[in-house]
Amino acid sequence: MVIDSFAVAIERFNGPILVAHSPMQQRSAMNLDERVARIFGDNEPTRFGSGWMSGTTSVFLGIIATGGVACFHLPATLTSPEIRAILPLPWVRALIEGVIGLGFLLGLASTLLRQRKVLGFAGMAMALMASLAGGGRVPATETLPPVPFHLGLDWFLINILLLAVIFVPLERLWPLRSQSIFRPAWTADTVYFLVSHLLVQVSTWLNLLPAKVFFAWAVHPGLQDWVRSQPALVQFFGCALAADLTEYWVHRCFHHRRWLWPFHAVHHSSTSMDWLAGSRLHLGDVVFTRAVTFIPLFLLGFDQTPLIAYLGFVSIHAVFIHANVSWNFPRWVEALVVTPRFHHWHHAIEREAIDRNFAVHFPWIDRFFGTYYAPPGKWPTGYGIEGHPVPDGFMEQCSYPFRRQKLD
Ligand SMILES: [Zn+2]
Ligand SMILES: [Zn+2]
Repeated sequence: MVIDSFAVAIERFNGPILVAHSPMQQRSAMNLDERVARIFGDNEPTRFGSGWMSGTTSVFLGIIATGGVACFHLPATLTSPEIRAILPLPWVRALIEGVIGLGFLLGLASTLLRQRKVLGFAGMAMALMASLAGGGRVPATETLPPVPFHLGLDWFLINILLLAVIFVPLERLWPLRSQSIFRPAWTADTVYFLVSHLLVQVSTWLNLLPAKVFFAWAVHPGLQDWVRSQPALVQFFGCALAADLTEYWVHRCFHHRRWLWPFHAVHHSSTSMDWLAGSRLHLGDVVFTRAVTFIPLFLLGFDQTPLIAYLGFVSIHAVFIHANVSWNFPRWVEALVVTPRFHHWHHAIEREAIDRNFAVHFPWIDRFFGTYYAPPGKWPTGYGIEGHPVPDGFMEQCSYPFRRQKLD
């Protein structure tokens, strides 16, 4: 009863479903969504002032606070040396204290506004637990023991907090579709986001390995010196261009090679586009694409600063182009840089848009190679793959390319 009502509430919040799931897919897709709904759901309204937004935000902040304090207690295991090196510790401590305080207050507000108190109590409990575990006051360990493997929990927490602060308001203020943050399969996409960040050490190692092992012989010091003598801004654009030209062809191969497509089909299985949808990438897709894309960057030998600036740009831009925002940019902007409208067409269910718009940064690469499709001012009517061949759920999608090949 509670779940049914919650589903109705979500449905009302979501607006029309654009592409229907098959009954079997819907049943498995809703598993984790449904389990979360079973714990936190109710049949009360979700409008502003109902305690819904304060409750969900409180739970979100409670998770961030608990994870942040865990990072302070187990820094060698849960955090990345690269992230630790650049984060200003006093700011992080202040941030954790702020998140705990805000999480607790929003939880309290939710319990006062809402009949079912589970959201508010859960948020308050996590904030309280994080505070009792030391909050932002946990002493930092001076020297960390060397560990062969670490998780990137700090990277996950910072990135999801930053992206949520940017994109949740944008998608509420300028929505393309009337859909909730908690649209179908949002839990699976969150798991993708979590796992890809936790495994940052492994994936970075795998991304760099092929270039260093197989292409070290091709390094030309004279060429690298010339590249590094260019202004940082030129190197930044050079980096983006080299990466996008490579990624265009890798992406195109993923669409046209029968053995590669099942890996990339996972990304195209999203029937809702939003800031989390871009996270749905099979590990095989991510590693193969990034490893090949890194080869020209490795050979050209860009400076660290433009390279890191480019990686920072990619991490925000890749999320932005999937976002549920209705922005129509001026034609000249759309011609120069990939916008959400361009990439939404890449995910479109319309037949004329299939195997189009492979570029990730520069749409004129698609114009040049004859694969551009984005009718002016128009957006797709829906997203996904015809027939919905990819199962729902994180684990099912991880094994899909291998099961699919066996069946073939
Ligand atoms: Zn694609
Ligand atoms: Zn995409």
